[in-house]
Amino acid sequence: MIALTKDFELESTAGAHCSRSDLEQWRSDLHYDKSKYKMIKEIQKELPRIKSNISLAKYTTFKIGGPAQYFFIAKEKKDVIEAIKMAKKNGLPFFVLGEGSNLLVSDKGFNGLVIKFQVSNFKFQDPEVVAEAGTILEELVKGSMKRGLTGLEWAAGIPGTVGGAIRGNAAAFGNSIGDVIKEVEVAEITRVQPVRIRIFKNKDCKFSYRDSIFKKNPNLIILAVELQIEKGDKKKIKKEITKNLDYRKKNHPLNFPSAGSVFKNPPQFSAGFLIEKCGLKGKTIGQAQISKKHSNFIVNLGGAKAKDVKKLINLAKKKVKEKFGVELEEELEQLGF
Ligand SMILES: Cc1cc2nc3c(=O)[nH]c(=O)nc-3n(C[C@H](O)[C@H](O)[C@H](O)COP(=O)(O)OP(=O)(O)OC[C@H]3O[C@@H](n4cnc5c(N)ncnc54)[C@H](O)[C@@H]3O)c2cc1C
Repeated sequence: MIALTKDFELESTAGAHCSRSDLEQWRSDLHYDKSKYKMIKEIQKELPRIKSNISLAKYTTFKIGGPAQYFFIAKEKKDVIEAIKMAKKNGLPFFVLGEGSNLLVSDKGFNGLVIKFQVSNFKFQDPEVVAEAGTILEELVKGSMKRGLTGLEWAAGIPGTVGGAIRGNAAAFGNSIGDVIKEVEVAEITRVQPVRIRIFKNKDCKFSYRDSIFKKNPNLIILAVELQIEKGDKKKIKKEITKNLDYRKKNHPLNFPSAGSVFKNPPQFSAGFLIEKCGLKGKTIGQAQISKKHSNFIVNLGGAKAKDVKKLINLAKKKVKEKFGVELEEELEQLGF
């Protein structure tokens, strides 16, 4: 209803028939937008490339979610540090975003700063690899295949960045990223200094099933990593990657947007098996559906809302608890709820 001109004149698109409450609403909208405008101008002095009100849907593999109040693409490590410092100084909550491939963003979006990691230089030092946290994991899989380096074949087909993979200890076919980590460079947000750079050795990362110290402590932001992989047989590596990609094509609903597995597998049975046994395969709410191909995936059939995905998540948890007494735990990260 209200559009702001540069000098904050009120441009009403409404006619003369307006109630007192409409006018009051306009005034409060105007006041709100004015202060927001001032704030973004102030913030832009500290972080010039920062944007406001950016839809997060296109930054997630689910293609779901409302806007980020502030959005900043970090292309270098120093951008990450600057963005964190700015957020701390202005008391803004912030969220570090990789490829958004393990993420459900609420329909309301996120009231704070999203720092999108595109810090993505990497170098093969055969056999070790050094990579910044925004490097796409698949780039490292392809690079190692070309060089005949073994250790990352399992990761073929996992979307996402190295940082996102380390935080959630991404894994497949019995292997995990934690198995190949030598050390991780971290920006630690402390109370006394804005940011402290630290090196975590593998054992300090406390990797376990879909878990790490970085998941437990949100004050640890992953900046870069050194991976320890080995010389291997090029042909064998290629064969293994092809096999893993074929398995995914056959078993996962790759033709619809999703965020991968929704739940962690409980100790005895896979989450997908339990959900399917509750008769929920293909269950659809709005445009969100428990995949007909794999019941631990929820897919976006086109224009799905986060609230519908949440309903399916809660339904699956409820039914599995009732039928099997098992508490399903989300693997999927959630933002803005
Ligand atoms: C089709 C499909 C298949 C998948 N298959 C698998 C699979 O086989 N195995 C598996 O483990 N996962 C799988 N996933 C899930 C997902 O790809 C991984 O979890 C991936 O590692 C997430 O990385 P990301 O960069 O997308 O992280 P995001 O989704 O962007 O973020 C995930 C979390 O990590 C945090 N984060 C991101 N970067 C950093 C950083 N630099 N420092 C600190 N925290 C950070 C975010 O704040 C967020 O909390 C799949 C997903 C899809 C869509």
